[in-house]
Amino acid sequence: MNIVLMGLPGAGKGTQAARIVQELKIPHISTGDMFRLAVSEETPLGLEAKSYMDKGQLVPDRVTIGIVRDRLNKDDCSSGFLLDGFPRTVPQAIALDELLQEMSRKIDAIIYIEVEQDELLRRLTGRRICRDCGATYHVVFSPPEKQDVCDHCGGELYQRNDDRDETVAKRLEVNVKGLQDLIKYYEPTGRLQRIDGKQSIENVTKEILSQLRGVQT
Ligand code: ADP
Ligand code: AMP
Repeated sequence: MNIVLMGLPGAGKGTQAARIVQELKIPHISTGDMFRLAVSEETPLGLEAKSYMDKGQLVPDRVTIGIVRDRLNKDDCSSGFLLDGFPRTVPQAIALDELLQEMSRKIDAIIYIEVEQDELLRRLTGRRICRDCGATYHVVFSPPEKQDVCDHCGGELYQRNDDRDETVAKRLEVNVKGLQDLIKYYEPTGRLQRIDGKQSIENVTKEILSQLRGVQT
C-alpha cells in the first residue's frame, strides 16, 4: 500500500509512521529524517538543507523532490511505502503524482492527522529524539523510563535544533499555508482521510489502521 501521512509539525506523523510501517511491513520515508542524516554526515545535500532547516523554512522543492524520487526508486519500495512529511507543497504533490505515474503506481491513502496549534507547540518543544535509533519521545506525553535514555536501544535523547521556541513558531507558520493548499489539492481525489490527532498515541494508531483496512488498493 502506498500511503501519504500529512499533518503540521508535531501532529504525530513520525510517531504514527513508526507504528504503521511495523504493522504493514513497508518502508518509512521521512524527508525530515533524510535531511537530518545528510546534515549529520555533512554531505553537500546536508549543507544546503541545514541553512533552511535552522531557520524553520522549507528546503527548496527541487532538492526535496530529487531525494524522494531517488528513494522511491529503491527496491524496498516495490511493495509499498509510507511518506511522512512529503509532499508539503502543491508542486511537490504534483511531482509525486507524475513520478508515481511514470512508475505505473498511485497513492492509495492520504492520512491527515489534525491537531490544533496550541497543542502542537507543547508537543514540539517537549519532543526528544534518540541519537542512535531515532525513536521519538515527549518529556510529558510519552517519556522514556529513564530520563534522557532511549527505552529501545539505550541511546542518548536530544532536542532537535528546530524544536527550540524561536524556530517552532516559524515552522508552524510556513507549514500552515502549505498544508491548506495541499488539502485543497487532495480533497477532490476522495482519498484524503482526516484523523483526530488529539487522541492518545494508541487510539490514533488504531484509527489510522482501521481506516487503512477499508482502503481498496
Ligand atoms: P511529527 O512527526 O508530526 O512532527 P512527532 O511524531 O515527532 O510529530 O510527535 C511530536 C511530539 O508529540 C513527540 O514528542 C511525540 O512523542 C508527541 N506525540 C505524538 N503523538 C502524540 C499524541 N497523540 N499525544 C500526545 N503526544 C504525542
Ligand atoms: P520534519 O522532520 O518533517 O519536521 O522536517 C524537518 C525540516 O526538514 C523541515 O522544517 C524542513 O526544513 C525540512 N523538510 C522536511 N520535509 C520537507 C519537505 N517535504 N519540503 C521541504 N522541506 C522539508
